[in-house]
Amino acid sequence: MSIALHLYRWAAAAQCLFKLTTCPICQTTLAPHEERLCTRCAANMPRTRYHLWPDNPMERRLWGRFPLVRATALMHYQRGSSYAQLVWMLKYKGRRDLGPALGRRMARELRSSSFFDDIDLLLPVPLHWRRQWQRSFNQSYLLAKGIAQVTGLPIDTRSLQRIHFTTAQAHHAGISRWDNVSDTFRLRHPGALAGRHVLLIDDVLTTGSTLTACADALRNEPGIRISVLTLAIAGD
Ligand SMILES: [Zn+2]
Repeated sequence: MSIALHLYRWAAAAQCLFKLTTCPICQTTLAPHEERLCTRCAANMPRTRYHLWPDNPMERRLWGRFPLVRATALMHYQRGSSYAQLVWMLKYKGRRDLGPALGRRMARELRSSSFFDDIDLLLPVPLHWRRQWQRSFNQSYLLAKGIAQVTGLPIDTRSLQRIHFTTAQAHHAGISRWDNVSDTFRLRHPGALAGRHVLLIDDVLTTGSTLTACADALRNEPGIRISVLTLAIAGD
């Protein structure tokens, strides 16, 4: 093996170790008991605490779209803020380790409430296979993985399928964004989720059109109940 290759591998390993031992918000070195975020940045996270709030603003945003049992998000998404960077790093900067870590954080903070009561399964919003191939992972699945590790709930990645390849959501707004995702999902095996209480998992709720499109694919299942959990919510 050439010296250059050794050096390259050493540099890559050092960079990886630096990422895992440094708080991505403030860049301080993490203590052994701190998971991905330092204690100060974790404490200062702009939490919604919507799970403690009946008829919270996230639920109201989804009212009238589909029958919703409950919804919450861990934090507010403020574009350009250091906490919004977490989502950006997870989705676009290869920090897939942040997904399970943030999922575990969400679950630990919610499990003292009744939020997970009677949930049967976690349903991460699927990516189209082309998007997943491009990105090599699904950030909603990574969040669900962390939630499953804490709650023990199963993750269902088979039932819901994204059948349309949509262009980047960030470039769509308002009505055009809605058109972009409607009829985007389908159930592989109709009837398989009958009578179940599913928890849809996504990274950021903006207009709610993606989650509504998921619910549209699910809502004809007899007796299904749908709740929503996202890492962040924009615009509230
Ligand atoms: Zn920090």
